[in-house]
Amino acid sequence: MILQEVLFQDRSECCGCSACVDICPKSVLIMQEDASGFLYPRIKEHAECIDCKRCLKVCPEKNLLQIDSEFKSFYAGYFKDNKELISCASGGLATAISKKFIQSHGIVYGCAYSDDWNTIEYKRVTDILDLEKLKTSKYSQSIKEGIYKKVIADLQGGSKVLFIGLPCDVLAVKSIVPTKYHSALYLLELICHGPTSLKVHRQFITELEKKGRMIFFSTRAKKNGAWKPFYIHAKYENGTEHYEEFHKSAYGAAFRYMKRPSCYTCKIKGNHLVGDLMIGDYHYVEKGMNGYNEHGVSSALVHNEKGEQLLAELDSVGFYIIEIPRRNAIGNGAITRAIPAPAKHEEFEKFFVEKGLISASRLRFVIKSNIERSIKASMLKFAVKVKRFFLPSTRPHD
Ligand SMILES: Cc1cc2nc3c(=O)[nH]c(=O)nc-3n(C[C@H](O)[C@H](O)[C@H](O)COP(=O)(O)OP(=O)(O)OC[C@H]3O[C@@H](n4cnc5c(N)ncnc54)[C@H](O)[C@@H]3O)c2cc1C
Ligand code: SF4
Ligand code: SF4
Ligand code: SF4
Repeated sequence: MILQEVLFQDRSECCGCSACVDICPKSVLIMQEDASGFLYPRIKEHAECIDCKRCLKVCPEKNLLQIDSEFKSFYAGYFKDNKELISCASGGLATAISKKFIQSHGIVYGCAYSDDWNTIEYKRVTDILDLEKLKTSKYSQSIKEGIYKKVIADLQGGSKVLFIGLPCDVLAVKSIVPTKYHSALYLLELICHGPTSLKVHRQFITELEKKGRMIFFSTRAKKNGAWKPFYIHAKYENGTEHYEEFHKSAYGAAFRYMKRPSCYTCKIKGNHLVGDLMIGDYHYVEKGMNGYNEHGVSSALVHNEKGEQLLAELDSVGFYIIEIPRRNAIGNGAITRAIPAPAKHEEFEKFFVEKGLISASRLRFVIKSNIERSIKASMLKFAVKVKRFFLPSTRPHD
């Protein structure tokens, strides 16, 4: 059998992009969750693989080394309208670019929660109003089966397409779309240190729904408009709301201790990136610096001319953007290297599989690390205040 022996031998060798499923001419593959809830391709029972190896050719984990990319220019910005800005993950750049793309008759692909909040899946968006569903970061991996076929069909029909995703998904799109359509395909990759599993997401939603029927959910809410720290936010049909700091929540614990195994050794970093444009949080910016906004700021790292095109004329959708120095943009660690697995991540995963998310999040080392994080955050805040008092002009012109 080709899969287990050739496609991936270890869990860490598959990023779960599903490109192999979409390309298979005999439809013999499906994605299935493992015990931790991460999706992997499997051969369907009694299905006949003809050993054509098309799955191998599109697999981003196999085609990494052919890529060589470098950033050309660097920007930061945010929506000028506070309501719009607060509804987005960081500065709202993904939404701004998507708006302008749809206005110019393009089709956008991005990630949304399912209507029952239980999964995260790709959506094809042609109406600006539907961009609301794509807003904010979803911290579990999305379902992608079938999405590449839709992208190819749109390109074949003569449309231009903007695909927004994690770098491995973007690489998968690039691998699976025939080269003759690449000129109409725009690729926007998010700075990424990796998601947790859909099973984590489902268990968290089940827990929240014990309080009533949910009508809104976000893992990246700006409580009282503040960009950091970010909150889990749920709204219920009965009018009540739930707020919980993401990094102190059970979801946050899984995000920290149980990422997809491929993320801890991710090779889609540095000069192996493939998008036209990469965006993320502009963490470097501080109060007093050019481009700062307390409600969130996006950073943008441009790979090529198409990336520049995506950033052009964003003023028309109410987005403020400035050029920033390379060193400020590139300082975001997740761009250049995989975040190493934390100590005890295997213990967390084992406990999660056996006892579930809530029990795993109550493990002693998780609670201890939450306390340490809180102390560190308070100390950092205090240090910045002291620094500003003695050196009020640090970084203001950057
Ligand atoms: C798993 C994950 C890890 C991340 N790690 C980092 C990091 O280490 N450093 C950093 O600076 N930024 C990171 N980001 C990116 C950051 O959280 C914001 O998503 C990004 O700055 C875009 O913000 P925005 O305001 O422009 O997005 P919005 O305008 O709110 O739009 C959000 C966009 O993100 C897309 N999206 C959301 N969730 C997913 C998902 N799970 N898979 C694919 N696409 C998705 C949506 O399609 C939408 O287009 C991460 C994002 C994710 C999903
Ligand atoms: S070798 Fe061909 S038939 Fe077999 S799983 Fe891969 S793509 Fe499908
Ligand atoms: S194509 Fe994607 S899902 Fe399939 S084996 Fe490769 S990384 Fe895994
Ligand atoms: S860290 Fe790497 S492997 Fe993991 S989701 Fe991000 S791009 Fe994919």
